[in-house]
Amino acid sequence: MMVKPAPSDFPLAPNVARMRASATLAAMQQALALKAAGADVVDLGAGEPDFDTPEHIKQAALEALRAGETKYTATGGTRELQQAIINYYEREFGARYDFKEVMATAGGKQAIFNAVVSLCEPGDEVLVARPYWVSFPEMVTFAGATPVLIDTEASAFHLTAAEVARATTTRTKLIIINSPSNPSGRVIPPDEFRRILEVCAERGIYAISDECYLQFVYEPARVFSVASLAPELRARLCIAGSFSKTYAMTGWRMGYALAPAAWIVGMLKVQGHSTSNPNSFAQHAAAEALNATQACVAEMLAEYSRRRAWLTNALAEIPGFSCFEPEGAFYAFPDVRGCLRGEVNSSGAFVEKLLRDEQTVVTDGAGFGADGFIRISYATSLERLQEGVRRIRRVADECVS
Ligand code: PLP
Repeated sequence: MMVKPAPSDFPLAPNVARMRASATLAAMQQALALKAAGADVVDLGAGEPDFDTPEHIKQAALEALRAGETKYTATGGTRELQQAIINYYEREFGARYDFKEVMATAGGKQAIFNAVVSLCEPGDEVLVARPYWVSFPEMVTFAGATPVLIDTEASAFHLTAAEVARATTTRTKLIIINSPSNPSGRVIPPDEFRRILEVCAERGIYAISDECYLQFVYEPARVFSVASLAPELRARLCIAGSFSKTYAMTGWRMGYALAPAAWIVGMLKVQGHSTSNPNSFAQHAAAEALNATQACVAEMLAEYSRRRAWLTNALAEIPGFSCFEPEGAFYAFPDVRGCLRGEVNSSGAFVEKLLRDEQTVVTDGAGFGADGFIRISYATSLERLQEGVRRIRRVADECVS
């Protein structure tokens, strides 16, 4: 048999070759490597809750395991979980969804991925607000479509309907919206969100609302879902939801999508031929998370709120930093351009210096399309957050002195 030698450079498919590796996962790897080497690392890079999954949710998974729920389920999840999602949206937002309009997914990420690849094709443009969650443009690229970035710095990182209207062309197929936002922590005011969807409805543009941080908003902002809007504004809308942050379940990989039935049909095809179905016993736990008391969510929110209050004040005192107030999620996204001097001439260089000199991990804003900014996660104890910010301050002081 003649064996053809494997080429030295693997012939990656062009749409995959164009994708960039995840900047947030890179920060996580760096933190892990330093910790393994025994360093006293302060990790403000992680985009995951420091809380453990609440006990009643774990118990539900154990019960499901004992009851033998260890087999494949329907592609879109169990009837039990679909019902729990439907009930949750009716209870919280007065929104009515049918079984045909809901599916469970392996994390919110898979819901967004399914939604993008089942809709977009080469030639399509997809609007994404900048700064963006790292995966949005990459998913669009994977689908062969073109991400069109809307710079929102002038509107204080609040995407507006006017910005959306200006960015649309005849090729615009979809917009992906994420409020509360990762990385900026900003929350689009509900009236503006409605106006954005009105622009989409008028122009026949589809929308994905990524509600990953739905429940984590700080007063005076209120929890808001576009599910509560009039049905005509939901005709081209996919809501992507996640259990990861709300219930501290990042490792469980549970999420969901709510969308018009025809879109769900496409998404089920993608899911059916990729991951088949979300984990069977995690689905039972996810249903419990939605059906049970939401006290655990309120407790986590109260703690995030305490940290956020401290962090907001502390950041305001760092020379060279300025920061739009974080209104939701668990991130602050300060502008550090006032600190950039000499060799520290980019946020990436600032982040590297912080890691090298102070063993402190934050995420470079460049990965979110916002060079000059850094993302600080406060999903860590107040004590570690305070230590981390002391270290950040030392680096900032050194840069501006
Ligand atoms: N959307 C945003 C904005 C996120 O930050 C994340 C996770 O970091 C996700 C979606 C996906 O979450 P998961 O796939 O863990 O549900």
